[in-house]
Amino acid sequence: MPKKTCPQCGFVGTTLGGFACHVRFGKCGVTEEQLFWAKVDKTSSPGGCWLWLGFLNHDGYGRVGPKRGVRSGGRAHKVIWEMIHGKVPAGMSVMHTCDVRACVNPAHLKAGTHRENMDDCYAKRRHIFGERNSHAKLTEEQVLEIRQFAGKATQREVAARYGVSQTAIAAIFNRRSWKFL
Ligand SMILES: [Zn+2]
Ligand SMILES: [Zn+2]
Repeated sequence: MPKKTCPQCGFVGTTLGGFACHVRFGKCGVTEEQLFWAKVDKTSSPGGCWLWLGFLNHDGYGRVGPKRGVRSGGRAHKVIWEMIHGKVPAGMSVMHTCDVRACVNPAHLKAGTHRENMDDCYAKRRHIFGERNSHAKLTEEQVLEIRQFAGKATQREVAARYGVSQTAIAAIFNRRSWKFL
């Protein structure tokens, strides 16, 4: 049973329906924005990333449902960027400077054209391949972080969070890869 705690008054909903009812009729004054930020973990990532604790897409991006009259749904990092800067201009997209797809720290997000996005991606890849061989996608810091999840989260959840394959996570958990760390 999912448990949700109200960030305003501490009410604990033991069913999703009960919690939704509290938000609509509980009159504690909790706002949509408070509920939104309650789903963000600002402290556990050493890189300063704010990790989205809500639903993650299969591609590792956080996902937010639409709320009538408040926002349209979509990728969490984009929704946050738009909450601060307004609508993303046509032809641009919101990208991560930190490469952590589940990250929603506004300081790690910037809007760029698709072209810039690709250039950025290639530049980073060149960088990664330059300093490291086949472990391309993850940094040492992330691998150490991932090990902390062993036994606490499923391989699939962790894989989604970091945008890598489940096999890669299994190898990290079992220390078959990144042995030198
Ligand atoms: Zn409340
Ligand atoms: Zn980040």
